[in-house]
Amino acid sequence: MKHKSLLPPRRRAREVKVGPFVIGGDNPVIVQSMTATDTADADSTVAQINALAEAGCEVVRITVDTRKAAAALPEIRRRAAAPLVADIHYNFKLALEAAPYVDKIRINPGNIGSEENIRAVIEKANEFDLPIRVGVNNGSLERDIAIKHGAHVTDNVLMPPEAGYPAEALVDSALRNIEILEAHNFTRTIISVKSSNVPLMVKAYRMLAAACDYPLHLGVTEAGTKDNSNIKSSLGIGALLLDGIGDTLRVSIAARATGEKIEEVRTGFKILQALGLRRFGVEIVACPTCGREDQGFDTTKIALELEEVNSRLSKPVKVSVMGCYVNGPGEAAEADLGVVASGKAAKIYRRGQLIDSLVPFDQVLPRMTELIQTFHEAEAVPASAD
Ligand code: SF4
Repeated sequence: MKHKSLLPPRRRAREVKVGPFVIGGDNPVIVQSMTATDTADADSTVAQINALAEAGCEVVRITVDTRKAAAALPEIRRRAAAPLVADIHYNFKLALEAAPYVDKIRINPGNIGSEENIRAVIEKANEFDLPIRVGVNNGSLERDIAIKHGAHVTDNVLMPPEAGYPAEALVDSALRNIEILEAHNFTRTIISVKSSNVPLMVKAYRMLAAACDYPLHLGVTEAGTKDNSNIKSSLGIGALLLDGIGDTLRVSIAARATGEKIEEVRTGFKILQALGLRRFGVEIVACPTCGREDQGFDTTKIALELEEVNSRLSKPVKVSVMGCYVNGPGEAAEADLGVVASGKAAKIYRRGQLIDSLVPFDQVLPRMTELIQTFHEAEAVPASAD
């Protein structure tokens, strides 16, 4: 069953091409992540990029912080299975070196010095038809904007205002960077205004969405370790997507290992899936269980194992797992496949139709796994259909 979307009309951002994707307009919201390897080590960087890509990550950002990192880019580009973004701070020469090997540059024009440096980066971006992401972050605001919004200087150190920067500071910085790019007739711009403070970041994006028509890259920065980040990202990114704001996203998790980096991608897709904006892989709807759960049927274990066993499937399949008959058939009617405990055996439904009414509880996992695989191969629609 396909519900009509209850979201408001999406903010209409201008379209900007990033590799094979178009970001903005009514194109799908793209999920990004970032490597945590030393980019100069091409082997480990390519391994992490490709693991992220295999998990569904659509665009991967890598830091280009040294000449050695820039020198590794041709090799990384040759072997990478995803479009790449070079993340650059301060050193405009690294952007010039990276441009031939990436699909986007993340740099803040306000941070790279003279007018001449800015012009050189823009000319290089034009030569390779690259977009630029202006990535404003409240930890690295331009000095004068920080002071305008309450920071003070003590012993030559910039101290943020006690109550933190207001959302207006992030927006001022974003608009200044846009202005610099527009002064050079550059409009292939994507913008982010990230903060680790969820209400602040939501307010800043809302203000920016009203002030320009550039596509917005959503994220809660420095969101912490997995559980904390999942909650903060879901709230911040989710609130904006619920408003129809946002064209691409990154969930940021404090993690170095590839397995944990992949969580960023999974959470990103889960946010989009929960809002009905994208469908990707197996989505399990499971009841919370209660004292009514039929004895011998373990809803939690079945849901977790079905998720785990099918975690590599990329096309959308919605599966419901319900511990008793109370809400079981109703949920099954809205799923592609549903299993409902019903006394001493389970009932299995396919798109609401009962296809098996006497599945022993210990046979539920293999039977559902087989059905999910068959459904995935035979009937699932492409992941980007929404
Ligand atoms: S479906 Fe049944 S077992 Fe699951 S929470 Fe509802 S009443 Fe409880």
